[in-house]
Amino acid sequence: GQYYGKTYFGADAKADITAMVKEILQQYQVQLEHNTWLSPATKQKAIRKLATMKIKMGYPDQLFPLYATLHVEPEADLLPTILQLSQQTQDFWLQQVGQPVDRNVWGMPGHLVNACYDPMKNDITFPAGILQPPYYSLNWTRAQNLGGTGATIGHEISHSFDNNGALYDEYGTLNNWWTVEDKQAFDKLVTAIADQFDGLLYEGVKVNGRLTVSENIADNAGMAVALDLLGDSADPKVLQDFFIAYARSWATKMRPERAKTVLRQDVHAPATLRVNVPVQNFEAWYQAFDVQPTDGMYRLPAKRVTIWRR
Ligand SMILES: [Zn+2]
Repeated sequence: GQYYGKTYFGADAKADITAMVKEILQQYQVQLEHNTWLSPATKQKAIRKLATMKIKMGYPDQLFPLYATLHVEPEADLLPTILQLSQQTQDFWLQQVGQPVDRNVWGMPGHLVNACYDPMKNDITFPAGILQPPYYSLNWTRAQNLGGTGATIGHEISHSFDNNGALYDEYGTLNNWWTVEDKQAFDKLVTAIADQFDGLLYEGVKVNGRLTVSENIADNAGMAVALDLLGDSADPKVLQDFFIAYARSWATKMRPERAKTVLRQDVHAPATLRVNVPVQNFEAWYQAFDVQPTDGMYRLPAKRVTIWRR
């Protein structure tokens, strides 16, 4: 993973995307400072959690310590070699029992096309494998990169201080830091987002607004923070670049049978709706494509919702 990242992604891209993540974290701090529905103490805890978050972009700086303990005799037979490597790996993990957690260790290799926020470590990982078109490129504009991957990074980070993140403290220890009042205020916004999705048709099946609400809230948060970084007064062409990159990042193909199955089980809404529903909450969407009240993707201002935006 480290070899792949260094070779095909590179130190410049790693520095570029890491800087973007720091900007997103900084913007979330601004949003939390302006937040009107979390209690002051909870806001401070959320901000501390953002400050403690480990950022893992592209590839790890250090090799995973396990590799230093592995040894292979070039002339040895295959089976004993595999058994020996297996034993060395098991010994390594057993030695970790009772030791402090190393927060520099990556949960995903650099070549994987995937990304995650780990609540039990409070770290965010975007391997080099996913940091390429149609998500990110060092050759793209800032608007394209914010739309193609910035909004998704914002999605992942928002999980650290939403109702899921509330269960874990800044070091990932199970320790709820929200008050009952914080949860009640959040639940009102949950209903507003659930209503935007509930009953929408996809492949002839109705979307369950409650099943998908956590992820739809995170999409809303990610888009809001990325658009904040782009600026309210951005040129319509720049805003178009943002939304088109966002839409392309979700391009997906599925057979109808698979879509129907996913729709009933997945906590994520269908990709098409993850694009078409949240965009209508943002003024930038109307500016980008001159969307009018008579257009199909117009939402009345009173029905638009942003969860975390100032
Ligand atoms: Zn999510």
